[in-house]
Amino acid sequence: MYDPKSLKAEEFISHEEILETLDYAEKNKNNVELIDEIIKKAESLKGLTHREASVLLACDIPEKIQELYSLAEKIKKGFYGNRIVMFAPLYLSNYCVNGCTYCPYHLKNKHIARKKLTQEEVRKEVVALQDMGHKRIVIEAGEDPVNNPIEYILECIETIYSIKHKNGDIRRVNVNIAATSVDNYRKLKEAGIGTYILFQETYHKESYEMLHPTGPKHDYAYHTEAMDRAMDGGVDDVGLGVLFGLERYKYEFAGLLMHAEHLEAAKGVGPHTISVPRIKAADDIDPSTFANGIDDEIFAKLCALIRVSVPYTGMIISTRESQAVRENVLRLGVSQISGASRTSVGGYQDEERPTDTEQFDVSDQRSLDEVVRWLMDMGYIPSFCTACYREGRTGDRFMKLLKSGQIHNCCQPNALMTLKEYLMDYASEETKKVGETLIEAELDRIPKEKVRLICEDHLNKIEEGIRDFR
Ligand code: SAM
Repeated sequence: MYDPKSLKAEEFISHEEILETLDYAEKNKNNVELIDEIIKKAESLKGLTHREASVLLACDIPEKIQELYSLAEKIKKGFYGNRIVMFAPLYLSNYCVNGCTYCPYHLKNKHIARKKLTQEEVRKEVVALQDMGHKRIVIEAGEDPVNNPIEYILECIETIYSIKHKNGDIRRVNVNIAATSVDNYRKLKEAGIGTYILFQETYHKESYEMLHPTGPKHDYAYHTEAMDRAMDGGVDDVGLGVLFGLERYKYEFAGLLMHAEHLEAAKGVGPHTISVPRIKAADDIDPSTFANGIDDEIFAKLCALIRVSVPYTGMIISTRESQAVRENVLRLGVSQISGASRTSVGGYQDEERPTDTEQFDVSDQRSLDEVVRWLMDMGYIPSFCTACYREGRTGDRFMKLLKSGQIHNCCQPNALMTLKEYLMDYASEETKKVGETLIEAELDRIPKEKVRLICEDHLNKIEEGIRDFR
């Protein structure tokens, strides 16, 4: 009997199914009747299957693409309002035993400086992040069982949560470390992590094995089944992602949606987030050596398609992308962005952006204050909220709230309150002015009057110095 729980990587990401999907999509890319039907289904917020979404990806009829973009914008506004969640990465260690051909942390790179933060250095990095105003971070590390064992990662998480500096505190630690065991995922859950993020890099098994020639990451099945193990270990929120540029994007897109479908079928809840990184230049890596790079237009189409295909899944964009690209995809579906990121180990303590241990070039190098003001100037509410996870609204509980439409009564006030904290504690005078006007206007968009009044009261208390309302 068919049991999605027992499917192995090569079954739930079936190569044959992806090839058939691409063939089906190519044959139907001008089938306007079918395309209209698919768009209509997406309008009903039911999401799309990998086959349906692949037809839209293959379609290049300008009016239909325009319809897709309008729909993506509408769905984005409907579910996420104009709130954008802020975060920053924290690199703990670039020691790595893998041989990933696109990543400068690979074992054979002998001229990159290797560094692993001590707990004192973690503390300094966290204080620097807190002093910018960050409340949510994602920790990053290479894979090295000797230098970065799970105990080290757990110790860092404990340190991060324990640091309270002035009004600062990191309230949610997401984790992006290599695929690991159910037992280790359980330990991460017990340490209080938010989302476990792991990029698939590529769903194409043969390419995957070539791109990861050596080290534990070479094992395609172990990597691809990581999210199943994470969920078996009790992690409710998992984040998927593909490193666009490594393989053909149509293949990756079908694989990504199949992965989401698998998690929904096997675990009853799909991915919490999807990240959309693109390959970047890095120490000894030239992105032009990867033949499958995608331009900004295709990138935008992929973001819009993810938005309409998995409307309940948050979408994350990093500072790998420029201000202009970020601006475009925020409109089409992205709900979380990083700001003022440093992709080097220990990078936040330095005045100048260090490059000696950097993982990849950062395109958007603005300060958090600049990013926050830029978002507000475009009419977005930068949100430093971490409430859902801290109140136990994770996994299917979070999804239920999102689907019920009640999320605005929750997220809108929380976004405004955490923005107010940011303005009071960290913003420049100019940003503060823009923010206060925005909060005033946005209060009226909280649907329930009772919630609105509570929010107003809390905003006044934040003004008086009280922090962290839940
Ligand atoms: N070591 C962990 C693992 O193996 O999944 C994850 C941490 S790694 C610091 C985070 C991600 O950076 C990788 O999953 C990869 O997708 C991305 N990355 C690596 N090299 C990159 C490059 N040259 N450009 C853009 N992203 C890159």
